Amino acid sequence: MKQLPDVHHKKILVLGLAKSGTAAAEILHDLGAFVTVNDSKPFEQNDNAQYLLSKGLTVICGSHPEDLLDEGFSLIVKNPGIPYTNSVIAEAKKRNIPVWTEVELAYRISDAPMIGITGSNGKTTTTTLIFDILAAGHKNPLIAGNIGTVASAVAAEATVEDVIVTELSSFQLMGTEQLKPKIAILLNLYEAHLDYHHDFEEYTDAKFNITKTQDASDWFIYNAEQEIVANYALQSKAKKIPFYVSKKMPDGISADDLNVYWNGEKLFERSIIALRGRHNLENVLAATAAALLMDCSLEHIMHILSTFHGVKHRTQFVREWQSRKFYNDSKATNALATKSALEGFSEPIILIAGGVDRGHSFDELIPYLHNVKALVHFGETAARLQQFGELHGIQSVIQVTNLVDAVKESVKASEEGYVILLSPACASWDQYESFELRGDEFIEQVLALEE
Ligand code: ADP
Repeated sequence: MKQLPDVHHKKILVLGLAKSGTAAAEILHDLGAFVTVNDSKPFEQNDNAQYLLSKGLTVICGSHPEDLLDEGFSLIVKNPGIPYTNSVIAEAKKRNIPVWTEVELAYRISDAPMIGITGSNGKTTTTTLIFDILAAGHKNPLIAGNIGTVASAVAAEATVEDVIVTELSSFQLMGTEQLKPKIAILLNLYEAHLDYHHDFEEYTDAKFNITKTQDASDWFIYNAEQEIVANYALQSKAKKIPFYVSKKMPDGISADDLNVYWNGEKLFERSIIALRGRHNLENVLAATAAALLMDCSLEHIMHILSTFHGVKHRTQFVREWQSRKFYNDSKATNALATKSALEGFSEPIILIAGGVDRGHSFDELIPYLHNVKALVHFGETAARLQQFGELHGIQSVIQVTNLVDAVKESVKASEEGYVILLSPACASWDQYESFELRGDEFIEQVLALEE
């Protein structure tokens, strides 16, 4: 771990705990800073705060007091979930106190180079693919980001021999100054997360932070077929690797219906790729480019691409049973994600959907319903999905009360060669604590089907 003169013996405020704030507070304390943590959760219910107090940090819990900044902090490190409209952050900006998110700290203490992945969709899939390929090629990858591991905790342990593969959300990227990935990837930009960001421009600007400090010794891999991304890329100072999923191109990495190409030369046939769908091709091309830049062999790349069936709960292949294939896409908590999943299949589909009713429209699915033979739905959205399915001509629309029955009804409605897809287009908490638990229940039911 690098020592940081900027923080030694300085008063630093860590705002918002959870996993990443707690890790950041502890690291800053170990680096010799005088750390105060502030979290809105009351002390009695706050295990993280209790732990940090026991380590000797100053802990203020239960609210964000107005006079907090009068302590004279020289830096604030905030949990990415805390918006910039938060009163303490807004006040800090007025007083010119720098505000970092936790990945900035991770970057500054890390001895290992970073591969950073961002985009509206596909981050976790691409991060995991890159990690798996680098691991197969013995490149000592470490994974950080949304998939359970906190970036600064990973960075604290990393050595120069390692490479940190980091998923970066726009929330994290908004608070970066020096963060400079060796390889940065921008997968795509869609109008998402607008509830947190001021507007689409603020959101896209945050994503572009991934390359703003890069120079000619770094690489920037980006989606050249999305105009907004391609326009942003013009400003990047890194070596550029564009990717194209719809046509063979002489530069970057590209694919047509048959093959994948690197600078216009064939790399491998598309048929070796186990992941389904055009959206996943974006993830595959970006991951392949990153792996090639890291000097991974084509053999290792092809081995992982042909065996990687998706990250758990993201159009994850579960099982083939009596000539039916089951996929778990429980992570699809909105219609856009379900649309991507449907797009990936040419087989007849039984779609299992439904959950929390936020009142949002399912219309995005309409152009992708042609091979949906039955819609089996459950949860709060029952009335709306029933009407939606009938209105758009799905042959069979079946309402059930829970996922267990949904699997049973789907099996009954299916024939050989069908895909049975859980892709709910809705959040899970009307019946489950998380989309992971919903997906786990689906997997359990599918694996329990007897021959
Ligand atoms: P993220 O980490 O950005 O949320 P994930 O890899 O977890 O993305 O994928 C979440 C869902 O988004 C997947 O189930 C799939 O339906 C959809 N998806 C994945 N990759 C892409 C992509 N490149 N473009 C559009 N949609 C995608």
